[in-house]
Amino acid sequence: MKRTLAEKKAQLLDELRSLGIEDEAILSVINSIPREDFIPRALRRQAYENAALPIDSGQTISQPYIVAYMTQCLKLTKKHKVLEVGTGSGYQAVVLAGLCRRLFTIERHLPLLNGAEAIFKKLNIFNITTLFGNGMKGWPEQAPFDRIMVTAASEEIPSKLLEQLKEGGIMVIPVGAQTETQHIIRITRKGDDYIQENLLPVKFVPMLPGIVHES
Ligand code: SAH
Repeated sequence: MKRTLAEKKAQLLDELRSLGIEDEAILSVINSIPREDFIPRALRRQAYENAALPIDSGQTISQPYIVAYMTQCLKLTKKHKVLEVGTGSGYQAVVLAGLCRRLFTIERHLPLLNGAEAIFKKLNIFNITTLFGNGMKGWPEQAPFDRIMVTAASEEIPSKLLEQLKEGGIMVIPVGAQTETQHIIRITRKGDDYIQENLLPVKFVPMLPGIVHES
């Protein structure tokens, strides 16, 4: 018998729990978001598989486990002002927005950003502000941020992002070239020191300079 999306979602949440996502607030936000709205229609039935899926402009929506894991690494509270680099489908942005005060998100592909904005509106989410631009530069007018999440892999951690992290702030970013194993790195700022932890091996699309107006 074919399982409904709701049944698949319940199973995905169990899987996330068994993989070590223990934060009930994160699980609850994931439970409340229709992931099928963020992916191409043809892939709808795969919306609750624990897998990355292709979206427009040759990009990907991250695997639910990685979304939950990176979110958990940030230790968010409702007081936090957060920056995301790489809006993509908008899914990770909506997860973050449900757990923080205000989410700023930057995307370099205009069609993706337009699509994400339409979903934020449809889901009645009003604490997300978007920017079409190169997120490597961060968002100086809105800095500093309590938390920063980068969802595209870069070979080096952009120094502008480090500068825009608040004292005591946390950033998570996949680091590594496309040809080698990338790792999620967590950086915690203590004064002028940046404490670095190497976490999970991952595979992300690359962080690229410049902007793209059409897909
Ligand atoms: N967080 C997204 C993941 C999308 S994949 C989601 O939940 O769907 C990573 C995204 O980062 C892509 O959309 C890509 O276009 C974007 N990206 C890559 N380099 C970037 C840059 N320098 N500035 C902003 N966005 C960038």
